[in-house]
Amino acid sequence: MKIDIIYQKFKECLSISTDTRKISKDCMYFALKGENFDGNKFVPQAFDNGAKYCVVDDEQAVINQHCILVKDVLTTLQSLANYHRNAINIPIISLTGSNGKTTTKELINTVLASTYKVKATIGNLNNHIGVPLTLLSFTKDLDFGIVEMGANHQKEIEFLCGIAQPDYGLITNFGKAHLEGFGSVEGVIKAKSELYDYLKQNEKSVFINSEDAKQIKQIGDYSKTITFGSKVKNDCVINFISANPFVTLKYDNTVINSKLIGNYNYGNIAVAVAIGKYFNVTTINIKKAIESYLPDNNRSEIIKKGSTKIILDAYNANPTSMLAALKNLKQLNAENKYLFLGDMFELGTEAEKEHQEIVNFIESNFESQVYLIGQNFNKTTTKPTTYKFATFEDLKPELKTLQLKDSTVLIKGSRGMALERILDVL
Ligand code: ATP
Ligand code: MG
Repeated sequence: MKIDIIYQKFKECLSISTDTRKISKDCMYFALKGENFDGNKFVPQAFDNGAKYCVVDDEQAVINQHCILVKDVLTTLQSLANYHRNAINIPIISLTGSNGKTTTKELINTVLASTYKVKATIGNLNNHIGVPLTLLSFTKDLDFGIVEMGANHQKEIEFLCGIAQPDYGLITNFGKAHLEGFGSVEGVIKAKSELYDYLKQNEKSVFINSEDAKQIKQIGDYSKTITFGSKVKNDCVINFISANPFVTLKYDNTVINSKLIGNYNYGNIAVAVAIGKYFNVTTINIKKAIESYLPDNNRSEIIKKGSTKIILDAYNANPTSMLAALKNLKQLNAENKYLFLGDMFELGTEAEKEHQEIVNFIESNFESQVYLIGQNFNKTTTKPTTYKFATFEDLKPELKTLQLKDSTVLIKGSRGMALERILDVL
């Protein structure tokens, strides 16, 4: 069936879904195939739960006239998203980068929402399925759509750009993340820069922090670059003031006190300020928006348990964000520091070296109590004063004995380590 005909049917629907457990009335269900399931098998359930149409790619799944048989459900979802993007024709701002995408996306969203009608990627739906779902949730009446793009291999961002066709874009940073798929930091830069390639080829605008030398070099001499930060001569000067523990910055003679910790969040905030300024959001609205934003989902949250201050940063970790979190902890005026660090995943052949480098950094910069958890950290060479545990379960009995009164605790590791479990035991 041709995409324009499917699009007519999509317009009769109130929403879309790829999960029959989360179907709402009159939605369009896309029967995607996963590693362990085949969405085609759930078509009866989808109709029972209220679906208006089911897009399927298995003839056996066609059980009534409201089933739309296509060659491939996933590519249909992606084509439909691109068709819709062109039909609604709203300005799209896209962002990618190694770290801080979701935080930055939320900050941009909050800033623009003070003045405009905007919608952004929900949560972390940033891949080949999430980006189409995000686009299909946008409506013609929006002033902006904000699309987070994630990648762990080359050509992924290029592909997502082809679907979302962004008008504005930014890269939060280039870091050591997903090295397994990218091979090296050079591989990361090449992959993330596919966003720049798209924007340049289509003469669209790029926001770049003037303090990020790698990005400045990568974009080269491109006239549609909008720069901001401390190293600009234009009026978008944004200065970092401190991160003790929350990031404070100055813009347009106004001090902005965020509720985000870590120097590393300065860049995330600055780009949201710059985008707000570019689209004429007033300074007071920018300030209010940034100051109201609270991180969630274990992303650099500060939690107080009695006199213990816990930096819960267990959402994810890679060598760059781990080092950023450690440097932040180091500069904090705090006594009795405890570190609970979990393995960093998806590093491929670099895993051993990267974990050892983190250990070396800790041992030469901290006098704190250090607890390392996971198979990778377990293989590192450490001083006798550093404690190592193969799994969280092994650490548990030790945790129960700790006296953390008046201390500052950092908890960080990859998502698979789920180190937020430490909180339940402390
Ligand atoms: P994902 O790859 O899962 O989509 P993301 O890029 O969206 O991640 P966030 O979810 O915003 O990133 O942040 C995750 C964690 O990354 C934060 O809790 C923080 O520890 C770290 N982080 C955020 N911004 C930066 C940054 N600019 N530099 C280094 N680390 C950062
Ligand atoms: Mg994200």
